[in-house]
Amino acid sequence: MSTWEENVRKVIPYTPGEQPNQPDMIKLNTNENPYPPAPGVEKALKEMDMDAMRLYPDPAAYDLVHAIAQMYSLKDEQVFVGVGSDDVLAMSFLTFFNSEKPVLFPDITYSFYDVWADLFKIPYERPALDENFHIKKEDYFRENGGVIFPNPNAPTGVEMQLEDVEEIIRHNQDVIVIVDEAYVDFGGKSALPLIEKYDNLLVVQTFSKSRSLAGMRIGFACGNEKLIKYLNDVKYSFNSYTMDRTALAAGVAAVKDQAYFQETCNKIIETREWTKKELKALGFSFQDSMSNFIFAAHETCPAEKIFEALREKHIYVRYFPKGRTNNFLRITIGTQEEMQTFINVLKDYLK
Ligand code: PMP
Repeated sequence: MSTWEENVRKVIPYTPGEQPNQPDMIKLNTNENPYPPAPGVEKALKEMDMDAMRLYPDPAAYDLVHAIAQMYSLKDEQVFVGVGSDDVLAMSFLTFFNSEKPVLFPDITYSFYDVWADLFKIPYERPALDENFHIKKEDYFRENGGVIFPNPNAPTGVEMQLEDVEEIIRHNQDVIVIVDEAYVDFGGKSALPLIEKYDNLLVVQTFSKSRSLAGMRIGFACGNEKLIKYLNDVKYSFNSYTMDRTALAAGVAAVKDQAYFQETCNKIIETREWTKKELKALGFSFQDSMSNFIFAAHETCPAEKIFEALREKHIYVRYFPKGRTNNFLRITIGTQEEMQTFINVLKDYLK
């Protein structure tokens, strides 16, 4: 090995879900929204001022910050925005997890957390979920360097009751607790109201799922003004212009159309509940999901076989072939028509 290689920051990167590109495919593998963004988004993008592209975007992303603050009745100073919640979360790891003590997150959770912790050399421990894939809150009642978990959790879809989330926050007032609410809009209960009560709570959300804008990369964090200031200090020490002009315009337009947002979320919830019944009838078992996906195992047929059979029909779901998740498939909720086709293909394969 050349000597320079000894100094390289070596990481095992996160593996994003596959992005196949077939015209007839049904894509249920990366928790995207099957419906288009709000109509106002298209209008805003069509009306973009080309000449303004010469100029840097607003580094404070004021219009988007303000729109999000208004939507949740917060002050602008309580909102931070970034390039998808991945950017917001990475920035939060860098800002808030800076202790010798381990950061705590579940053993089965969003698989980017340990990648960021490794990248930033943050020590961590991963308390195991119980046998039903539920977070055991007591595991987080001990000394640590910070806490993070998604609610609902991914890839399990399991939601923790807000009282239990609050108990974890209450037991950890000397560190930052991050609640990653990427999937909260599909029927979950947000911890956002708790930011007025706990100055150590950061709630992170995204426009990628419930607002159909995964391709635009918009995420945000809400918390105490002091937390947001610290986040901005780190952001401005890293890359001032994170949000481009198109993302800012699209984000503002998406926030404006709350009716469309509610309507598409409701359609997904309805289809999810229908899919649960159909999967149960086909011999699948799963914990109740409050997200836009279902994490399911079949009672006799191995997940890998089903995964391959679906793939042959150009239906893509996600399979995590390791440890306790080895026999599970994570199935994103598509349109009602897509899920009907998916169930028909499964029926045919499993009979
Ligand atoms: N948190 C969780 C739990 C997720 O599953 C995802 C999606 N991969 C993200 C955050 C990041 O989403 P985005 O960067 O698109 O906002």
